[in-house]
Amino acid sequence: MKVYDVTAPIFEGMTVYKNKPEKQPKLTPATNGYVTESRIELDVHTGTHIDAPLHMITDGDTFETISLDHLVGHCKVFDLTEAEDRITKADLEGLSIQKGDFVLFKTKNSFEEKFNFEFIFLAQDGAEYLAKLGIRGVGIDALGVERSQPGHPTHKALFANGIIVIEGLRLKMIEQGEYFMVAAPLKLLGTDASPARVLLIEGIQS
Ligand SMILES: [Zn+2]
Repeated sequence: MKVYDVTAPIFEGMTVYKNKPEKQPKLTPATNGYVTESRIELDVHTGTHIDAPLHMITDGDTFETISLDHLVGHCKVFDLTEAEDRITKADLEGLSIQKGDFVLFKTKNSFEEKFNFEFIFLAQDGAEYLAKLGIRGVGIDALGVERSQPGHPTHKALFANGIIVIEGLRLKMIEQGEYFMVAAPLKLLGTDASPARVLLIEGIQS
């Protein structure tokens, strides 16, 4: 059994969405004598994280509605490092994706450490195609599953169909194939997202 950690490390100065300073985590250590208790201020969309429908839908479901049953289980990693600009329906049609799958897309993004304003994202027609197939969830190695699409149709197509969205994965070392995934977010109540530790495990049979 081999365990791969596909989580981005969290620290002050890490890569954050559009390099916005207000999105940086703030770590404040407080030491009293020999006792240190740090405080951390964190955007819920920091690093590797899972979005809840509330993120893009007014009055949408909050984070605790995402069941762990859907976050722990088999997943398929697809190598889309050849994709330019965005992942379209045409990029996905030839792939072996079935109803109930949790799919993770490895793109050029995994090879970049700095925020790239032109990051590869899932296009609206790609999201609609996945929704039609009835997948369980989709993960991408960008801090957003979409960009430059007015009205956020990718997020909406996914959320409207109960598809879980994981963003900010780090998949450089991961080869295309099937893995057992453990995506463990913080147990936050009422939020629109949560950071998560995501592990891919090789060698667990179903
Ligand atoms: Zn997010």
